[in-house]
Amino acid sequence: MFSPDISGHLPIRQRLLERLQAGRIRGSLLFAGPEGIGKRRVALELAQREICFRRTACGQCEGCRMFAGDELPFELPNLLRVTPEGKAGIIRIDQIREGLDSANQPRFSRGVIEWASLAPPPKCHRWILVEEAHRLNEASANILLKTLEEPPEGTHFILVTHRPEALLQTIRSRCERIPFAPLAEAEAWAVARARGWAEADRARWSALGEGSLRHLEEDAFRRAEAQVEAWLALLGGAAFTPVAGPLLPEKDAAQAQSEQLRLPLELLLRLLADLARIRAGSPPALAPWGERLATLAAGPLNLRPGQEAALEALRHLPRNLSPEPLLREVALALRVA
Ligand SMILES: [Zn+2]
Repeated sequence: MFSPDISGHLPIRQRLLERLQAGRIRGSLLFAGPEGIGKRRVALELAQREICFRRTACGQCEGCRMFAGDELPFELPNLLRVTPEGKAGIIRIDQIREGLDSANQPRFSRGVIEWASLAPPPKCHRWILVEEAHRLNEASANILLKTLEEPPEGTHFILVTHRPEALLQTIRSRCERIPFAPLAEAEAWAVARARGWAEADRARWSALGEGSLRHLEEDAFRRAEAQVEAWLALLGGAAFTPVAGPLLPEKDAAQAQSEQLRLPLELLLRLLADLARIRAGSPPALAPWGERLATLAAGPLNLRPGQEAALEALRHLPRNLSPEPLLREVALALRVA
């Protein structure tokens, strides 16, 4: 009854299935939990099971094959996926109203509200996934409110987000929150190994990923590693320009710049937390970098200003400030004695 292609989260998946079978599932759900742990996949499994020829999400049949790999469908008879678009990466009001993407190529044929009102196919529900729901802008969110509160019979909204606090309170209050925890190390690594990751990378891959699959692509992982190196160098007193390259957003990336900047800033906070941990006599979470962290922890570094600057920078990210001055300021704060 569960897709063999999805890792972990079995208690949640079991509970969703039972409630679905008993007709006790709410109209609007909010899947909240860390990034890259498979929340979206769990949401898609609900649609996949109905499309599956065996109705089990077997992972083998023609129906299930549409849910395999990285090219996921945007619209099926029982599924609509709404995702952020454009450079700013927001979910815009015309997607909700008309379903057009930024290049005016219809990704799906109707707006979300109209789609939600159609009768579901036989023995199916209508699943509407709003991915990265924190990217709904206020206008889009306000248009969705009424439908979220009382979706038509057989229609279910699933809002997926790793930043539930960034959603409007009015949206959050209309959804039942389903909290997701990170994957166990072994669960995450099993997926990585199946993707060809070598045992030699396991400790660093697992420590950086914290039970997520966000570094499944080699590029993403190497980048995160380079960012650790850059922060360690800056913490050790290196000048900004020669080492900070990996911290800056990539210009042509699909992800909005502010989202790209979030990662190195969060990474810095983890490194600083580890330094505090070591000083308190506990082992660091980023154990593979433990020796170098221990050296830094033994030094005179003052952790407070760096932590405050990183948090302040994270707060300002939605305002789309220029990345370099922002990072420079954080790097400077690392040196305040
Ligand atoms: Zn199947």
